[in-house]
Amino acid sequence: MAFNNAIGISPFEEKVWLARPSVYQNSIDYIYEAYTSKWMTTAGTNINEVEREIAEMVGCKYAVALSAGTAALHMAVKLAGEALYGNSEAGKGALRNQRIACSDLTFAATVNPVVYEGGTPVFIDTEYDTWNMDPVALEKAFETYPDIKIVLVAHLYGTPCKMDEIREVCEHHSAIIIEDAAESLGATYKGVQTGRLGSYNAISFNGNKIITGTSGGMLLTDDKKAMEKVKKWSTQSRENAPWYQHEEVGYNYRMSNVIAGVVRGQIPYLKEHIDRKKAIYMKYKESFKNLPVKMNSFDAENSEPNYWLSAMIIDQEAMCRQVRGERETLYVEEQGKSCPTEILETLAKFNAEGRPIWKPMHMQPIYRMNPFITREGNGRARTNAYFDGGVADIGLDIFERGLCLPTDITMEYGAQDVVIEIIRRCFE
Ligand SMILES: *Cc1c(COP(=O)(O)O)cnc(C)c1O
Repeated sequence: MAFNNAIGISPFEEKVWLARPSVYQNSIDYIYEAYTSKWMTTAGTNINEVEREIAEMVGCKYAVALSAGTAALHMAVKLAGEALYGNSEAGKGALRNQRIACSDLTFAATVNPVVYEGGTPVFIDTEYDTWNMDPVALEKAFETYPDIKIVLVAHLYGTPCKMDEIREVCEHHSAIIIEDAAESLGATYKGVQTGRLGSYNAISFNGNKIITGTSGGMLLTDDKKAMEKVKKWSTQSRENAPWYQHEEVGYNYRMSNVIAGVVRGQIPYLKEHIDRKKAIYMKYKESFKNLPVKMNSFDAENSEPNYWLSAMIIDQEAMCRQVRGERETLYVEEQGKSCPTEILETLAKFNAEGRPIWKPMHMQPIYRMNPFITREGNGRARTNAYFDGGVADIGLDIFERGLCLPTDITMEYGAQDVVIEIIRRCFE
């Protein structure tokens, strides 16, 4: 780069955020209703209504409101484990050392629940078209580990994965699909909403998601028994008896009626949020036409993302040298080139917030010993995405060259133009 900040750009007075929750008066009304009706705990109208409205919107039969998306994923993993391996004994976990194929380029919350249930995540490499699980690598994983019976797939940044291809592989090997739709509420694949593409599916209402309850999540399914189990497990697994009687391990995972009030007030704004996120994405895409970068892509013919986070990837030839250790990063400035570290640091200098791409799970110290499967077959964590002239590790490559851009729908008018100009100058 040769970033010249002498030319008339001053730091944003009001910080430009990655994504920030919007707040609406009707949420306050629903919270107030919970308060005045004295239904403040894990039962009440708001919970019933958000479950009904989300199930109807997504098009699945049942929704169970929980305390977090992570809790919903935990329940989904436990359901799949019990469906395959039977009732889990107390403390043993439903998966019992079974290998579960998981998305690799995602938030740790996608895969941690597998470990809660005693399973071993097998990380599947990513493809460039949607930045999600590569169906070709997934097929490879079944060749290496024919015992895999569960596939846990996330839709990164609100972009649906290659669902038909993944489903075909799963059907061929009789594997159960769990969907992590935490980031993709409102996104569709061939006209079907994400969150109803697997057997057990999770969404999130965490603070920076497309709609929020400040926290919260939901388990979505068409399976009535599964829904009933999750309602029981998430409220400490009480049996129908005059005292506290327990035959199974329980969890305190139910959503409160107060949080449900916040969610309920947000649901009517989902479409508006998606429209505004899409406008932000399209503007970046249009403005970056003459820069050596590309936006995170999606299959426009078959899917419509919710555009939760705009992200970009720098062309290989336009990358200056950058190294990332476990906790620190360094880069070397170069004319006409840049890198995610330089762009993120420059944005921060101007009081704007970008974010690195999720660091792939197979590169995380905690999961470094887990299997990682690429298109070529058995891969291992590398320090460089390239070898033998080709790309060996696509997740790592996207992590090294990509970054998330400010996608806050409450961004001040004109702020995005300035963000774009800052990024443009990083390549001078
Ligand atoms: C946010 C998120 C989760 C977890 O949701 P919480 O509600 O924060 O527990 C899981 N997976 C992905 C991909 C996420 O982005």
